[in-house]
Amino acid sequence: MITLALSKGRIFEETMPLLAAAGIEVTEDPEKSRKLILDTTRPDVRVVLVRASDVPTYVQYGGADLGVTGLDVLLENGNQGMYQPLDLRIAACRLSVAVRNDYDYASAVKQGSRLRVATKYVGLSRDFFASKGVHVDLIKLYGSMELAPLTGLADAIVDLVSTGNTLKANHLVEVERIMDISARLVVNQAALKLKREPIRRIIDAFASAIPSV
Ligand code: AMP
Repeated sequence: MITLALSKGRIFEETMPLLAAAGIEVTEDPEKSRKLILDTTRPDVRVVLVRASDVPTYVQYGGADLGVTGLDVLLENGNQGMYQPLDLRIAACRLSVAVRNDYDYASAVKQGSRLRVATKYVGLSRDFFASKGVHVDLIKLYGSMELAPLTGLADAIVDLVSTGNTLKANHLVEVERIMDISARLVVNQAALKLKREPIRRIIDAFASAIPSV
């Protein structure tokens, strides 16, 4: 049995064409079912649905042989013990700094002010602001980062931006682009040795179906 860990939403939807290229179709709709283990048209392949930030843990400890997860998750939570063969170029977005549209970020940075920054990405944010020599107090949040500057909780946020619509709807503007993010295929190292042939076939099929830039 080969087990692939995916999170619901964008990663699940954008992984489906890659699976199809490997001759695999998921036979249940995760949005309509409460099942956490989904069958596929291949009796030896199943999909497990986990939280995006749990995908690396499943793959690392062998709860799944393969997984698809964002580079943001891998960099923030660690990618030890996993083989990372492919940038799938799906779920593309960027990690950015955003502030209220009436906040003068450039002046605050120039004056050496200490910024309060709310984010889920405490590690990546610490590294980024340290590399710029900007002093920050980081506030860890688990969701709806956009609310923090609007309520006075923080001066800035570090979050994923795709279309920019969420920022715009909340009167926020992007002031720094930290890095481009996309989803990666990760593979359990022991599984790659023990189930080499079927896993290699999936990796090769995914590689051939990666969307071009
Ligand atoms: P957008 O309005 O298209 O810029 O999307 C921004 C919202 O979607 C923010 O709440 C982000 O945290 C989330 N988001 C954007 N892209 C991704 C992604 N690739 N993976 C997970 N969340 C994302």
